Formats: sequence, structure tokens, C-alpha cells
Amino acid sequence: MTTHLFERSIKYESLTGKGQPGKRPRLQLGRPVRLAAVIIALLAALAWGRAQTGEAVKVPKPQVTVIKAARLIDGISDQAQPGMAVLVDGRMIKAVGPAAAILAKAAGARIIDLGKATLLPGLIDDHTHILLQGDLTVADYDEQLLKESIPYRAIRATMSVRAALLHGFTTMRDVETEGAMYADVDVKMAINNGVIPGPRLFVSTRAMTPTGMYPLSGYSWELKVPEGVQIVDGPDNIRRAVREQVKHGADWIKFYADRKYYLGPDGRLRSWVDFTDEEMRALVDETHRLGKKVAAHTVGWDGIDAALRMGVDTIEHGDGLTDDLIDRAVKQKVFWCPTIYVGVAVAGPRGGIWPKMVELERIAFGKAVAKGMLIAFGTDAGGFPWTENQAKEFAYMVRYGMTPMQAIKSATTVAAQLLGQEENMGAVAPGRFADLVAVAGDPLQDITELERVVFVMKDGVVYKGAGAQSGD
Ligand SMILES: [Zn+2]
Repeated sequence: MTTHLFERSIKYESLTGKGQPGKRPRLQLGRPVRLAAVIIALLAALAWGRAQTGEAVKVPKPQVTVIKAARLIDGISDQAQPGMAVLVDGRMIKAVGPAAAILAKAAGARIIDLGKATLLPGLIDDHTHILLQGDLTVADYDEQLLKESIPYRAIRATMSVRAALLHGFTTMRDVETEGAMYADVDVKMAINNGVIPGPRLFVSTRAMTPTGMYPLSGYSWELKVPEGVQIVDGPDNIRRAVREQVKHGADWIKFYADRKYYLGPDGRLRSWVDFTDEEMRALVDETHRLGKKVAAHTVGWDGIDAALRMGVDTIEHGDGLTDDLIDRAVKQKVFWCPTIYVGVAVAGPRGGIWPKMVELERIAFGKAVAKGMLIAFGTDAGGFPWTENQAKEFAYMVRYGMTPMQAIKSATTVAAQLLGQEENMGAVAPGRFADLVAVAGDPLQDITELERVVFVMKDGVVYKGAGAQSGD
């Protein structure tokens, strides 16, 4: 930056002839012409200076690069492939193939040799809350909404997204700001403009529930306390809220389908449904009419049943999924983000039904894998603090019945499919964004390798490991 300023002042001086003793401009022109020349020179200097400042943005430009590693898991094939290399041009993957062939067609390219590492597509987390810093208990949640301003929470969110990117997550769907209004849209803009490092974000802004069905609650009626969501009642109000959120930048619409989870006499996890059918139908219809998709928070059987009947696109949490519900979801091609780890993390501190929910979700997960349900990697990071690595979810998925390759695909190709972005991301293939990560060992042998990412490239720019350009 200092260099640029210095260069700019040199340029300005040489244009104006100032600051160079004994060297006055040679042309002897009339006063108005001279004045006009000075103004033009000033404008040119200003424009040049602006261009220089633009170049000084923190995130550097991508280059033509070849990345080599011992093993490639491309997100599509069922096997890891040895001896492969990836040619990256700008922000895109241009070619993938045997290392010798790729190197032959890339004379002069920068070469990043990752040695014995395994190269994978950038990871995708389809359920996060960048504006939340852990809510293991109700008190944790209330504390943040009551004591932290939205600007302060947005500053903390810049650290959430930085941590996620350095842990290997190059794309995230952030499913509501928990009272921080549209701050997710601002964080997304800051990332896209190169102001801060972070994953590519798909945001859902404020989420929705009816009056009295979401925190903060339990305070004196004389107090006006913050709401964790946008409160909506009645179909018309809901349609307006969908339009408002889309207007302000929502990529997805999120709503809370149920609450008050309890164990039914038949052993099913039951719940109270938040919206009437009429309201939920309006929400889904208006969202789809505007070309967006609906994410439904739903935990118990009753909520999942209602959400499926109303045609939502994704089920979030879904602890109460039973055989009948899984069959319906498979038929409707509805995705499930199980968020296993957060359930385990909050079960102890919350007590009550929560430990039982962990057990029921483990059973549901095994059934869903067997029935071929679309399970997309989603962690609820933010529900646990961003100081923890959201990649812990992988080990639970494998323990609950997925093969390591299935778990990897859930966070790459399947997660991209949930976002409708399978042409752009989730695989190491020509024409996809150059989003790549590497781990030192073999994640097919030990899935926890994904908790120790050693290399991160997003959009062709290296943020971690060999060849990191940004100094992050
Ligand atoms: Zn969540």
C-alpha cells in the first residue's frame, strides 16, 4: 500500500511538473489552456490512483497453476485416483488428468506439489450460522442477542467465515442470522468484493416463525426484546416477508416448522407444528414463485410430516425421521441436513429430551443411508462455537453408517446438488470453480483427516498451505 501511494505521488508530480526543481513544464501556453491541462492531468492522476488502489485489495489475483498430489478424490468417482494433477486457470479448473500429461500442457505455470497428500474438492457445509457464536443453552443465545449489537456480531462473523475457509469450507449455505437482520448479506458482499477472506455464501437472512414461537421469550411484557427471527402471522404477511427478504438479498427462505419436541407413546419423536397448513403453503408457494428454495427447520415427526406435505426443499436436523417419512422424502427428492455433531454438543448442557434425540437421530441416519436419501453435509456451526472445526461432523456420519466416500460426497457433490450448483462446484472437474483442499493422509482410511486440512484454494486463490498468497 505504501509503495502504491509513493508511486502515485511520483506520477502526480511528473504529470504536473511540480516537485522537480528547475524542471518547469516546457510548453508555454495561455493561462486558460494551462489551467485546463492541469485539470485534465489531475483527473488522469486521480483515475490512475483509483486503479492502483483497486489493485491493492487484500485478496490477490489467481494465476495459472498446476496442483499435484499423491491421491485425488474428485467427488464423482467412487475411488481415489493416484498420480493425478489439476490445471487451474484463473478461478476455474481447466483440466484434470495424469500428472505428466497435465504438466506437458502447462509450460510456465506455477506448480504446487503437495507430495503425499490427498486432494479433494473444496468442502461445502449446507447448514451454518456465521452470526452466532455458540448457543449450547438458552442463556448463551439470549446473551448474544441482548448484549451484542448487530455491527459487533458482524465483526465476529468475519472471524467465523475466516475460520471456516481455513478449515477447508469453500462454500456454505448460511441458514439465518438469528436476530442479526440482513448482516449475512453484508458479510457475503465483503467476501465477494475481496475485503475479507471467507467461503462463497448462500444466505437466507432472517428466517420466519409465528408470534411467540421463537426466542427471545420469557421476559417481562413491558420490555421490547430482540427477536431471533422475523415474526410472521397469516398467509399475506408471510408472502410479504418472503418478498422483503428476497428483495434484501436472501438466496434461500428458512422457516421454523416445529418446536416443543417430546417422546410419543409409540416411541416416535413428536413435536408441535408452528404454522397452519395455509400459512406454510403460502410461504413455500411464494418462495418458489420468486425462483428461490425453502429450508425447513424441523425436528419431530409432526413438523417433518407437515413440511413434506407442503413441498419444502430441505429438512434441517430431522431427528424424528421414521421409515415412512424417509420414503416420502426420497420420493420427493427432498434433501436432509442432519447436523449430528451440534445435537451431541448441546445434549448435555440442555438435558431433557435432547440426549434421547441424539439416539433417535443415529437410528434415523442409518435407515436414511440404507434407503438412499439425499443427505447433504450440514453442521449447524454457530450453534457450537466457530473455534471448533465443523469437519467433526464427518466422523459421526461414518460412525452412523456412511462409508468415508459417502461422507465426502455428502459435503461435495451432494451438497452442491442441494444448492443447485452441481455444474459449478462440488467436484474436481474441468469447468468447475477452482475450489480445492488437501489433507496430509488418506481420508478413506481415517475420515478425521478432514479435520486437518493442510491446503485450501478457493476461486483459484490459495489461502492455506503451499503457495498461499494472501498472508492469511
Ligand atoms: Zn441451525
